[in-house]
Amino acid sequence: MSSSTSLELKPCPLYINGKPVISRGTKDVQYNPASGEAVAEIPRSTPEEIASAVEAAHLAFPAWSKTPVIQRCKVLLKYREVLEAHAQEMIALITEENGKTLAEARGSFDRGIECIEFACGAPTLMMGDTLEQVGTSVDGWSTRNPVGVCVGITPFNFPCMVPLWMFPMAIACGNTFVLKPSDRVPRTAFRLVELAYEAGLPPGVLNLVHGAKEAVDCLLADPRVQAVSFVGSSAVARYIHQTASSHGKRVQALGGAKNHSVVLPDAEMKSTVAAIMGSGFGCAGERCLATSVVVAVGEAADPLVKELLNAADHLAVGDGCQPKTQMGPVINAEAKKRILNYIEMGEKEGATLARDGRKDPVARSAGYFVGPTIFDRVNPDSRIAKEEIFGPVLSVIRVKTLKEALAVVDRSEYGNAASIFTRSGAAAREFSQNVSAGMVGINVGVPAPVAFFPFTGWKNSFFGDLHALGKDSVRFYTEQRVVTCRWPD
Ligand code: NAD
Repeated sequence: MSSSTSLELKPCPLYINGKPVISRGTKDVQYNPASGEAVAEIPRSTPEEIASAVEAAHLAFPAWSKTPVIQRCKVLLKYREVLEAHAQEMIALITEENGKTLAEARGSFDRGIECIEFACGAPTLMMGDTLEQVGTSVDGWSTRNPVGVCVGITPFNFPCMVPLWMFPMAIACGNTFVLKPSDRVPRTAFRLVELAYEAGLPPGVLNLVHGAKEAVDCLLADPRVQAVSFVGSSAVARYIHQTASSHGKRVQALGGAKNHSVVLPDAEMKSTVAAIMGSGFGCAGERCLATSVVVAVGEAADPLVKELLNAADHLAVGDGCQPKTQMGPVINAEAKKRILNYIEMGEKEGATLARDGRKDPVARSAGYFVGPTIFDRVNPDSRIAKEEIFGPVLSVIRVKTLKEALAVVDRSEYGNAASIFTRSGAAAREFSQNVSAGMVGINVGVPAPVAFFPFTGWKNSFFGDLHALGKDSVRFYTEQRVVTCRWPD
């Protein structure tokens, strides 16, 4: 994105107090990642606009928090219906903004819908505990109460799903919300908010602002904001966690990742290769659960690398809106440059560049494409093995034993996900009980938990106590009150 004052491009409004608002802030241009063409004008909200979004949420809170939870969930049930009715439009928009294929956009849309369905369980999920006769004529019970104005700050790679990780549960629990989506994919977020109002949300319950660091800093410092949910890179996640905590807010900050897939010699090769291809190159590698490092144990290595190279040669890379495309572009020119730098770095570090995605013809087109790239015989201590590349680049590390493989995973500063591919129940058990990652796959390439479980990154993949989704999200978006009551007989 670069600064521009272009007038032909459609502006992307904010949403404040139930109404779209054209920002007075400076504008950036959004480019279609598949074509490199300018498609929209993205504002950076002014501090005053951000303050008015927070104020709208603050003023909406008393009535919304007192609205019976069943009523709140009825709005969400309607929202689910409205979103489904706009599914094709939303999926096309996700692909246009982010570049992922239509099938990937559909998958992420469906996972977002699942989050709304989970949030519709709030009446049960918010129930407290009761213990009668804790003393003579004394009963005790606990209730879960909304915390107030919550903020969501989201990344570019899942424009629809990640916002839906946050605000449906937050508002189901009786909070009001200000969403600050990625400045690279804000139009999907705008439609998400607009359609929530079409479903009958009262004004001010859900608000939308745009921008990057300056916008985030305004939200983090605002005393009316009680809780902050963040998903993005680890450096920013750490910053958000520290800053929001220092302002006295509760915060959950999900960070970056470097995920490993461990392949044992007894793994079923065909399905393993398919799973690793999907995990490593799906969404062009721009997924926080993407496999980035393949740890090949013993004799698994030679046939695995051969089959991965073969599959990569047959991967259809192109515009995500073409139905036959299997891998789309990366998000923008800056991301492409970073990924190409990592490929150069891998060569310098002495890894074998077994497949060079820079040489694919599509990598020379106007969009931001990098072909599938595979490094073999990668040193576990090299930067390409340790750092998050966030693109279609796989590094294969060869080890002799499962124990060595576990040690490679353990040395990572990240701990989002790790998978094992094997036919051995004992090996799978050893791996799942000892691996230092929060989300574990057994013969599964992308071990993304369904919305009913928490999204449990470890180490530098998460900063905070309560994770997104699952029962953790209900705890995060509520405060407990415990009542002790005496009624003499
Ligand atoms: P990012 O950290 O650049 O941006 C995330 C959000 O923070 C955006 O809304 C952005 O506008 C804002 N932001 C950026 N710089 C900031 C700063 N200095 N101060 C305050 N706010 C700032 O992340 P991204 O590039 O949009 O997304 C990719 C990253 O997100 C990857 O690292 C990926 O692993 C991670 N991610 C993690 C998960 C997870 O569940 N752990 C899920 C999706 C993506």
